[in-house]
Amino acid sequence: MSSNQHIVMLPVMAHGHLIPFLALARRIYETTGFTITIANTPLNIQHLRSTSNSSLPGDEPPRIQFAELPFCSVDHGLPPNTENTENLSLEQIGRFFCATLDLKSPFRQLLSDITATEGKPPLCVISDFFFGWANEVAHSVGTVNLTFSTSGAYGMLADLSVWLNLPHRRVADSYDFSVPGFPDEYRFHTTQLHQFIRKADGTDSWSKFLQPQLSLSMKSLGWLCNTVEEIEPLSVEWLRNYIKVPVWPIGPLFPTRLLKRSSSTGSSLSSASHSGKQPGISLEKCLKWLDLQSPGSVLYISFGSQNTITASQMMELATGLEEAGKPFIWVIRAPIGFDRRGEFKAEWLPDGFEQRMSNTKRGLLVKNWASQLEILCHKSTGVFLSHCGWNSVMESLSQGVPIIGWPMAAEQAYNSKMLVEEMGVSVELTRGIEGHISAKQVKESIDLAMDKNSSKGLRMKKNAVEMEKQIREAISNEGEKKGSSIRAMDDLFKTLICRSLKSIN
Ligand code: UDP
Repeated sequence: MSSNQHIVMLPVMAHGHLIPFLALARRIYETTGFTITIANTPLNIQHLRSTSNSSLPGDEPPRIQFAELPFCSVDHGLPPNTENTENLSLEQIGRFFCATLDLKSPFRQLLSDITATEGKPPLCVISDFFFGWANEVAHSVGTVNLTFSTSGAYGMLADLSVWLNLPHRRVADSYDFSVPGFPDEYRFHTTQLHQFIRKADGTDSWSKFLQPQLSLSMKSLGWLCNTVEEIEPLSVEWLRNYIKVPVWPIGPLFPTRLLKRSSSTGSSLSSASHSGKQPGISLEKCLKWLDLQSPGSVLYISFGSQNTITASQMMELATGLEEAGKPFIWVIRAPIGFDRRGEFKAEWLPDGFEQRMSNTKRGLLVKNWASQLEILCHKSTGVFLSHCGWNSVMESLSQGVPIIGWPMAAEQAYNSKMLVEEMGVSVELTRGIEGHISAKQVKESIDLAMDKNSSKGLRMKKNAVEMEKQIREAISNEGEKKGSSIRAMDDLFKTLICRSLKSIN
């Protein structure tokens, strides 16, 4: 394949999008040798650069270029240097997304500059689904836009269709409804809706921003999806039918090569933070702690890159964990309403909790950030209590680790519904940032998922192991036996190259 091609990418400014975009850039570079430029705001570029430079031993950092797009948060009444949604109020998050429309003009300039310098437009643009406007900008320099969904097919379709059709407007609160694009018998519930959408009626600022962007994204040349066709075949088909353009399932896209489940001894893990964020405890310490535990015995708890929980939920969770008595690693952050970067206060947890957990080696608290993928890859990790963000879901399933779900925002409740109802790999603890939990419920769901004689837990594990097998097969690239995600990627490039040759002739 000719390496004399250039692809320009534009992720939305959120960790859970930047990292799969970077992984996609790496995958494309490794497959094709094309030049890749990722465009974003200055602070996010800094974050991407540091993530891109930290590689596993023996891994050559990919040659990826970065282009800074100016972004002035104060113009939109946001705190200075705000370049992602962390620590913003709900109202500010809305304003932040509207402000991303400012990227259009510098992005157009970037594409024009590349076109002028190279004497031809880039092969394509790959943009986030929040940036439907990228279609028009790509066309203006004579190229095409592809949309990259960092969500799975089920969650993406539900999110897309609920925002575009607002089907819940036709039913009362606490009621179920069907979603266009899904068969009628797939009932969704109003409690599964993100709070932004619950009140949306098409005239609010969220609808006014998102509906046009999603509609425009559906006019892309095609969609790339961070999923594996075999793990959600029906959803991929429904998504294709709904958006009516090709969908290439090319996942999973992880920041590093898929790691093997291992103990830390003899593994090839480095202590580098692949996320560009600072882990609360060194990876070595986490892995050593995991080495002391028996296989499949540890519950890993994390709510993604953005979320935290309320002080009362934190207290119930800690009490339930202690009562359940299973070893755990908990990525813990200051509760909602407190500064995440400030000191962690013992009063947020039951009296003496941290000390007791540490003395008995029962629990490890990691403040703010952990090396998640490496923890999930350790053979002692048995179950993941997760907010069901799609990256976390793919990371967990790729290691055959079943899930206890606590979906909080975005499309996470749809992901959780699929994990429970379609895949049978999860049990839901509660739903929503405001979701009610009690220590008793926490203990019950841990027992259900982790007890040796829980038939439900055993079934979840068996199904998760089946998902792991399918994910590994999808990315196997040995001789004739190419997996489905590798074939999808090959097909995508054939399509793009054919199109580019036709436009030259
Ligand atoms: N992550 C991590 N350490 C943490 C929290 C999150 O490495 O302490 C990574 C996690 O491995 C995943 C990403 O951040 O790749 C979170 O993405 P996800 O889609 O699960 O959730 P989001 O952050 O977008 O809500």
